[in-house]
Amino acid sequence: MNAFTYRGGVLHAEAVPLPRIAESVGTPFYCYSTAALDAAWHAFADAFAGSDVTICYAVKANSNLAVIRTLAQRGAGADVVSVGEMRRALAAGIPPERIVFSGVGKTAAEMAEAVEAGIYQINVESLPELRALSAVAAGLGRRAPVAVRVNPDVDARTHAKISTGRKENKFGIDIDLARAVYAEAAALPGIRPVSVAVHIGSQLMELEPFRMAFERVAELVRVLREDGHDIRRMDLGGGLGIRYRDEAPPSHGEYARIVREVAGALGCHVTLEPGRALVGNAGILVSSVIYRKEGVGRNFLILDAAMNDLMRPSLYDAWHTIVPVKEPGPGSAVQPIDVVGPVCESTDTFAVQRPLPPVAEGELVAFLSAGAYGAVMASTYNTRPLIPEVLVNGSDFAVVRRRPTIEEILAAEAIPAWL
Ligand SMILES: *Cc1c(COP(=O)(O)O)cnc(C)c1O
Repeated sequence: MNAFTYRGGVLHAEAVPLPRIAESVGTPFYCYSTAALDAAWHAFADAFAGSDVTICYAVKANSNLAVIRTLAQRGAGADVVSVGEMRRALAAGIPPERIVFSGVGKTAAEMAEAVEAGIYQINVESLPELRALSAVAAGLGRRAPVAVRVNPDVDARTHAKISTGRKENKFGIDIDLARAVYAEAAALPGIRPVSVAVHIGSQLMELEPFRMAFERVAELVRVLREDGHDIRRMDLGGGLGIRYRDEAPPSHGEYARIVREVAGALGCHVTLEPGRALVGNAGILVSSVIYRKEGVGRNFLILDAAMNDLMRPSLYDAWHTIVPVKEPGPGSAVQPIDVVGPVCESTDTFAVQRPLPPVAEGELVAFLSAGAYGAVMASTYNTRPLIPEVLVNGSDFAVVRRRPTIEEILAAEAIPAWL
């Protein structure tokens, strides 16, 4: 399903022409499609129909309340990595029993809030964290339901900066040490070890690393059961890749088959934590061309969007397809051009020598597949206010996060009395 298509020569989000949103909120802005979120949800969830699976949307991919609510209404739980994200998930209507708390550095205050909220599970990534959680939970008279996130030492074969399942990564506890950790966990007063968790990376394009990681987890579950632990759940993480350019992501059906094969044999309830796969292709970033700069042997398209609005290209050399909002005429020639933002960094470059049809100053362009790890990573570098987010639903649209004013940014700062 593609929610972003040309109609009558103009790029639309569902039935809304993008220039209409641009007039209303100004550029740049993020635009999400309800129909695309719905389609991505169903593509994922339907593959698991009839299985004992809870899909906990990894909120960090796009934590806008309206996006979380859209998925929550369709049955999603949440995977959160901070207390801020937990509050978002709760505010969006996800019940605590469907929330998993992941992340390598939870503070005691975050743990206390999660335990008091009564969330489904806390995924622990180190022994010090396990002991700290026990102390917090016991202090509240509770035993926290815990999964130990293991590091299975599997190469996810994705970009190094989004790989998390190798020994050298900071994530999880070495799977070979897991038995001893569960033994300690069971003896701690504030811990109830209920599950084993794994998450090996993001934007995976092959199923084999998933299978290897899941099988290692399954083997561990068997060993832990022999050791007397009552493990009836597995948390198999997220990471399923999407198409940005010409990649061929694994089929949801095949992915689901692997999950079922591994977990079904153990009779485990499974939680999954997809982020990018649910939202990545449900959002775009729309920007205006400020200038066309013709250099010596190199031309630049200077946009009003920058690396602080969409970091992925400068952070991970990520590719986003860029299209003009005004549909190029048939046979219109493409020219290679560097697409850059106005921030004072050379890495503020979205694309180098990208073949694009002619786009004039003042016209709009759209970055496709910007729904995941886009708005959530934005900063106000160069005192550029965070850009608005808009959610489209059929022929309706709503601003789901407004653009702060520069006055609001300045108001959070103070000049001390001695100045
Ligand atoms: C980031 C993250 C996810 C989601 O990853 P995607 O690649 O967006 O699916 C899931 N689980 C954990 C623990 C994560 O850190």
